[in-house]
Amino acid sequence: MAKTPPIHHATIIDSFDVENHNLKVGGVPLKQLAERVGQTPFYAYDRSKMTQRLAQLRQQMPSELKIHYAMKANPMPAVVQHMASIVDGLDVASAGEMKVALDTGMAANQISMAGPGKRPVELAQAIAAGITVNIESFNELEELAIQSNRLGIAATVAIRINPAFELKSSGMKMGGGPKQFGIDEEQVPAALKRLGALQLNFAGFHIFSGSQNLKSEAIIEAQQKSIALAIKLADACPSPIRKLNIGGGLGIPYFPGETPLNIAPIAEALDKEMQRAKQYLPDSSVIIELGRYLVGEAGVYVTRIVDKKYSYQQLYLVTDGGLHHNLSASGNFGQIIRKNYPLAIGNKMNWPEKEKTMIVGALCTPLDLLADQMECSEAEIGDYVVVFQSGAYGLTASPADFLCQPSAVEVLI
Ligand SMILES: *Cc1c(COP(=O)(O)O)cnc(C)c1O
Repeated sequence: MAKTPPIHHATIIDSFDVENHNLKVGGVPLKQLAERVGQTPFYAYDRSKMTQRLAQLRQQMPSELKIHYAMKANPMPAVVQHMASIVDGLDVASAGEMKVALDTGMAANQISMAGPGKRPVELAQAIAAGITVNIESFNELEELAIQSNRLGIAATVAIRINPAFELKSSGMKMGGGPKQFGIDEEQVPAALKRLGALQLNFAGFHIFSGSQNLKSEAIIEAQQKSIALAIKLADACPSPIRKLNIGGGLGIPYFPGETPLNIAPIAEALDKEMQRAKQYLPDSSVIIELGRYLVGEAGVYVTRIVDKKYSYQQLYLVTDGGLHHNLSASGNFGQIIRKNYPLAIGNKMNWPEKEKTMIVGALCTPLDLLADQMECSEAEIGDYVVVFQSGAYGLTASPADFLCQPSAVEVLI
């Protein structure tokens, strides 16, 4: 099996075109793009990169696999609209996201809602919309039945299982051991029994064990265990499983030394598993749900340098953006050890003069750091700082109101 070499930040940056030292996003040189947007900071997402990523994935994965977009990664309506035109379904985590998903015209039966703490009104909205509700607890199941009776519409339900296994080497675990997500594997038969008694419309299972994984062996193992678990539970179901959502977890490399995910072995193993699933669960489609893998590499965050100063010989470039727009890049969104995201001076690409610098945001906190001791093109006030790998968990995953700074604009190119 061909091993992909570990990435260097340059690998990610080089996947964008450059013209006259200007980075191009979606074919538009950065300076021109900034003029078009009319302000910094902004996020720019390249739709062709999203389309390409999905096409590559489909080419490798079994043709019967359904690929859903988990829209919490990037819920910008234009992005979701674009994704809706190329994926098989949308996964939402709130009624707010459900609205954006329905607005795209995606069929309701290809939309599912997951997430703990769904309020009665959200459950009612989901039932009225006709989407699939992934149930996370026994109480939620009862409330869903109450709302279903009140509306006179049979709710479509999948049970989210908190599996006994965990996704190894995952950046963010969502299964294995006590969790707020899903119903513990051992309690699922009881939930299925209750679901049958409540006469709800049973769709299947949702098994999401974790996120941001770069180890294909770990993903293969989780997928095998998920499918085996569904097969094991099939007899306890009130009706045939129609949907088996085996989660996602496909990660993208952010830091030097990380290796892009090798899809080929995952696809090969999944193909075998899907053959098995077909035999035991003939009515079921198999779904994976992906967020960052589909959109993360398609987006950049662009800020402008507003100050350049030295503090005890250390150079600081101060930008007009920061962690209030891109918490992930600052290292404060779930990272244990802070590392630099790939970053470049976007109007001085391939610049001969370099300097080692700190790049910070405009917030009054030392946490507001975009680059720590990074070797960059020599930059001046007015130059653009571009943070790569920013298409997922960017603007909406950041504390926008912290320090009452102006907001960032988002564009899809
Ligand atoms: C967040 C989430 C995803 C997407 O995770 P990514 O790491 O962005 O792929 C998928 N499914 C569920 C249930 C989630 O909560």
